Formats: sequence, structure tokens, C-alpha cells
Amino acid sequence: MEPTHADLRDAFRARGRQLWLVGGALRDRLLGIESHDIDYATDALPDEIEAIARSLGARVTTVGKRFGTVGVLLEGAWVEITTFRGESYAPGGGRWPEVTFGRTIEEDLARRDFTITAFAENAHTGEWLDLFGGEADLRAGIIRAVGEPAARFREDPLRILRGVRFVSQLGFRLDPATAAGMRETAHLIAALSQERITAELDKLLQGRAPAAGLEALRDVGALAFALPELAPMPGCEQNRFHRYDVWGHTLATVQAIATTPETHRIRRWAALLHDLGKPAVRHTKPNGEWGFYRHEVVGAELAGALLERLRFGRADAHVVVLLVRRHMERPDPADRRAVRRFMAKLGGRWRDLLALKRADNASHTYDDTAYHDALEAACLRAEQEEAEAIRAESPLTGDDLVRLFDRPPGPWVGVIKRQLGAMVLDGDLAPGDRAAAVEVARRLMGRA
Ligand code: ATP
Ligand code: MG
Repeated sequence: MEPTHADLRDAFRARGRQLWLVGGALRDRLLGIESHDIDYATDALPDEIEAIARSLGARVTTVGKRFGTVGVLLEGAWVEITTFRGESYAPGGGRWPEVTFGRTIEEDLARRDFTITAFAENAHTGEWLDLFGGEADLRAGIIRAVGEPAARFREDPLRILRGVRFVSQLGFRLDPATAAGMRETAHLIAALSQERITAELDKLLQGRAPAAGLEALRDVGALAFALPELAPMPGCEQNRFHRYDVWGHTLATVQAIATTPETHRIRRWAALLHDLGKPAVRHTKPNGEWGFYRHEVVGAELAGALLERLRFGRADAHVVVLLVRRHMERPDPADRRAVRRFMAKLGGRWRDLLALKRADNASHTYDDTAYHDALEAACLRAEQEEAEAIRAESPLTGDDLVRLFDRPPGPWVGVIKRQLGAMVLDGDLAPGDRAAAVEVARRLMGRA
């Protein structure tokens, strides 16, 4: 049996060690949402944390031990137990460049980045410790740095991206002084590793308020450093078919796109990048309006390069680029061949493209819903027909019939095959049931 949280608490108490619940789990509990990861902080050093966990017979992982963290499997979930931190950061360095251990929970909380991540609950006594007004900020929906904002962002510029990521994930807003500190230090993002940046951008984009998160990213000047490829979008004006500039339109599309858990990441990124080519190709048309001829072709190229730079993952990047490339496709729903060509070009992702087209249309000045409904119906029909074509196949081929009845080929072959196919379609004959089909064919030929 795996030990429980209560077992862990008792073991720490028996050793005279503190144990505090910290971080995301507390935040989520206050917000009333289910939490996936549980973190504890303690005054025990990593060796002792490990010894206590092993004394309970728990499964333990020590990959994070040199950063002060020991993973323990409790009640079916991995829990992180971390020695109080008191580290100092090297400017622009990694997450925990120099780990020094602190002696108190107060010291530990002071090292955390935002007030909404800097409170703790004593696992032994239930004491609630909120030194920086985190609970009030949580209730008010405010992301506020612990301490002097610019100094904290200089210690670790990733916090800038974490802050705007929380804007998106929680639907919160930045405290003005915190945003000002971000603005002052945003250029330091350039020194971070791409992995850390990409992980935050991915979380930002998949949050519940991605438009607000992206706008915060731009507003604090971090867009130019985290996603410089998108920097030409704000201020790139469009024509009378659009309510917003390319940036505003992009945010509206990201926010509007319908997703499922399996398609969430791909569709949000496709929405973000679908008009990436527009600033590069913008030109004046003879009628004096802005034109964006072939922006989906240029955009697909730019998106591919961007996703490669982000190390996005090949398979997902391929689909995102495909969706960007095809988002202007507009087959006539009444033209069966055109609909089938459209579906073939999308290699099984036509639902994603329709979701993108619908979201794209949400901030146009005209309503294309009727067209999208018709296209969706046509695609569904084509899929249905294809499934039926497979099911409607006669279990016997023409050659089979010629051999079976020892008669020369002629129109009779087609007549029998169509009959057999129709019976498969009606469910009176199982697909591929040759023996039963032979019986039916004999009857039809009057040879039963
Ligand atoms: P998520 O788990 O959704 O990524 P989180 O806030 O729980 O978000 P973790 O990486 O799990 O982030 O970190 C746990 C806690 O450690 C945070 O709540 C925060 O208090 C602290 N922390 C994480 N990263 C930093 C950082 N770069 N600077 C300061 N404190 C940090
Ligand atoms: Mg966490």
C-alpha cells in the first residue's frame, strides 16, 4: 500500500520537521478548481526528506534533489517535497542557478515570484501564512510580484512569461506596478533558454483567456522578445471586411476557436498563426484597399520556421502549418468533387480547418455561418458516402461470378454485383461474407 498524506505528515512531525502545503494546489483550492500537483515545503534537507519517504516505504524520485526537491508517490500521485529556499539568483540565469536552503517558511515564501503563489498552510497545525496579500489578490484576480517587481524579473526573467501565462490561465490582470517592472526588464527574456520560453508560451496559449494573456505579453513589451515573428501584427491595418487590425483579429480568433482536449493545442496555435503572413504581403489593390494576396502561402512558411525555432514538435507543427496554408480554401459545398479535393488536401484534418474558418469569421464584418454550415454538411456527407461505398461492396467480384456460374462476362455480372452490394448496405448480407453471397447469387440466378 502506498503511504498517505497523513502518514507523511505524521512522519515529519515525529522527526520534529515542519511541513507546509504551498503553491498551485492551495491556489486551486481557493479558486475551487481541481488541482493536479501538490507541493510541500519543509525545513528538512533533501537527504532527510528522502530518508523519511523511504522509511514509509514510498516510491521516491530524486531527479530534482540537487535543487532541493524530492518526489514521493502518495495515494497514486507524485508529490513534490522541497527544502525551504533562500537562494540568490544570478541575473538572467536559469530557474534555480544557485540553490541555497533557507531556514524558515517566511524566507521561502519571499523567494516566490507572485503573491498568488506565495502563501502556505501548515500541514500539522493548519496555520495559514499569507505574508504578501496573496489571498486578496487571488480573490481580486490580480497578478502582483512579491517585492520590487523589476528586481524580481531581473533575477529570473522567466517570471515575466509566468506572469502573463497566469493572466491567460486564470483570467487575471496584471497589477500596474508589476506590468511596469515587466516592461523595464522584458529585453532580458532573450537570454532565457528556448525550452523554458516555449513551455510558458504553450501554457499561455492554452489558457482560458489567451487573448488577454497575449495582449498582456504585447503590452509589457515581451512579444518582441518571446515571439518577434508576431511583432509586425499589432498596428497592421486591414480592409473593410475586418473589425480589427491583424493583431486584434488574431486575438479574437484564438479566443473564439472551438476545441476539444485532443485538438486544443493545435487549434489554438493555428488560430494564432493563421494570418502571420499578412504583414509581409500587404499591398494596395487597384481599388485603393489593402490586399493580402497569398498571405496563407507566405504565412505557412513563416509559421513552419517559427514552430521549428520554438521546438514545437514535428507532428503538431505539421498540422498547424497545414491549417495556416489552407485557411483560405473555399470549396463550393454543392460541388462534390471540389469538396472531396478539399478534404484530401487536409489529410483528415478538415474539422480543424472548419473550426479555424468559423473562428476566423467571428471578427469579420460579414457572417459566413451559412456557408460554413453547408461546407460542414457536405464534408460529413462525403465521409458518409465513403463509409457506405466500403460497406456496399459486393463480397463477390465479377471474376468470382464468372467462375461460379461458368458463364461468359456480360451485363448479368453487374446486375448481380449491385444486388449483393445493396444487400450489404441494407444489412441483409455481412460485408465480405462470401459463402452467404454465393447462396444469394445462386438464388438470384435461379440456380439454388
Ligand atoms: P504550474 O504548475 O501550472 O506550472 P506553478 O505556479 O505551480 O504553475 P511550478 O513550476 O509548479 O509553478 O512551481 C511551484 C511554485 O514554485 C510556484 O507556485 C512558485 O511559488 C514557485 N516558482 C516556480 N517558478 C518560479 C520562479 N521562476 N521564480 C520564483 N518562484 C517560482
Ligand atoms: Mg505547480
